[in-house]
Amino acid sequence: MSVRVRYAPSPTGLQHIGGVRTALFNYLFARANGGKFILRLEDTDRTRSSEEYVKNLYDTFDWLGIRWDEGPDVGGPKGPYVQSERFGLYRQYAEKLVAAGKAYYCFCGEDRLSRMRSDAEPEEGEGAASYGYDRACRNIESAEARRRAEAGEAHVIRLKIPLEGTTKFRDLLLGEIEWKNADVSPDPVLLKSDGFPTYHLANVVDDHLMEITHVMRAQEWIPSAPMHMIMYEAFGWTPPSLCHLPMVLGSDGHKLSKRHGATAVNEFRTKGYVKEALINYVAMLGASYEDGRDLYSLEDLARLFRIDRINKAPAVFDYVKLEWFNGQYIRAKEDGELTEMLLPFAVDAGLFGAPGTRPSGGQDSLFRSAVPLVKERLSYLSEAPAKLAYLFSEPPLAPVEEFIPKKLDAPRAAELLAIAAALLPDCDLSDIPASEEKFRTKAAEAGCKLGDLMMPLRVAVTGSRVSPPLFESIRLLGLPAVLARAAKARAALAAAGSAP
Ligand code: GLU
Repeated sequence: MSVRVRYAPSPTGLQHIGGVRTALFNYLFARANGGKFILRLEDTDRTRSSEEYVKNLYDTFDWLGIRWDEGPDVGGPKGPYVQSERFGLYRQYAEKLVAAGKAYYCFCGEDRLSRMRSDAEPEEGEGAASYGYDRACRNIESAEARRRAEAGEAHVIRLKIPLEGTTKFRDLLLGEIEWKNADVSPDPVLLKSDGFPTYHLANVVDDHLMEITHVMRAQEWIPSAPMHMIMYEAFGWTPPSLCHLPMVLGSDGHKLSKRHGATAVNEFRTKGYVKEALINYVAMLGASYEDGRDLYSLEDLARLFRIDRINKAPAVFDYVKLEWFNGQYIRAKEDGELTEMLLPFAVDAGLFGAPGTRPSGGQDSLFRSAVPLVKERLSYLSEAPAKLAYLFSEPPLAPVEEFIPKKLDAPRAAELLAIAAALLPDCDLSDIPASEEKFRTKAAEAGCKLGDLMMPLRVAVTGSRVSPPLFESIRLLGLPAVLARAAKARAALAAAGSAP
């Protein structure tokens, strides 16, 4: 039987790292096995589902370049792929279970249920299941129950959890998992009084009708699994293989959440993470591929993914490691592609005027020439505009102490700046090594290190001690602008040197 897997998000929040990891593993598993990857929207919770989150889902996966073979937008033979478009089906299947004596109508009103919940504070040591629904309606004679339902009495449909025995399944990752039926939530609702299905019913019916062969989902769904197994059994269906994926934790060992930093994919995207880095890093959260390698393209991952290479232990999300991946992928980009990727960040940050201003012709070519200067230094794309700002407008004059190399003073810094500025017109800046050599010789004559000769000039030109390569920057800025900045800085140093 060919592999069919699905990503089945509920559109009740933004796509985050955990969801993308689930989707990615399913996608990779399908690709590795020549199977199909399906998107199904589980929007049974009508109050929490929203169009905004559906849009975010499409945007996110579109950006990542992860595509499904069947889904709401692309169609497919097992649609519709949105649960709210399948509501009629679920009642039909719930009724089938009632007819087979595996489920029953429950007429308990919300007030009775909430009274029951508040009366039933769990005793120490009692599991959650022991204070759930008391199964009052399970004993109503079936003809009587049918008559009441047909007369229009409000009701839900509940699944009969066997009162004794155990339910087990073999998780592909975790091995055999067994639950005492007495510990399974007593008689969960399958169909609500408004006719809407619960997650459990819709999920099982759809996995069956869509012929899903493997369910790969987060470990937090393990408690639902016995309920689902009981349902498969009640329907007489073969369940899919289950594989519950390791948790993704923050550095403190708690489930990854906003407390640890960004978790929504949007936030990474806005900060300038590139999709290749995010995919590569997320694919490694709880799985390994080949030894001795860190960087994998989506195609590599799709070829190499195997369930037996998923870890049982939780994965820890390491923001620093992700940043390292991002730097690697940024450096691997062609200059032209990287320039196109950086341009929107520069426009938004106001590099070319007020935020949102597009570059003029001159600014555009300056930007194109400048990108290679920062390529080696970027951890993420949104850092670029600040690093390049000194090329587009004069930076504020740095505080005097920034100009002064270690162990020297302001008058000496002013002197070195004068020497460096005077040397520049003699340098052919299209030949960087030769220019550097000139500076080296001059530094020896002046009795200082090369770095000390360059430092005041660097701060004067770029506004900072740490900057993209200086000679290239000077070449891009042009001599007149550079000499003007140097003169201003010398004046500031002279004033500081003569101050009492
Ligand atoms: N709709 C569930 C979710 O939001 C799907 C869980 C499952 O994969 O069964 O994660």
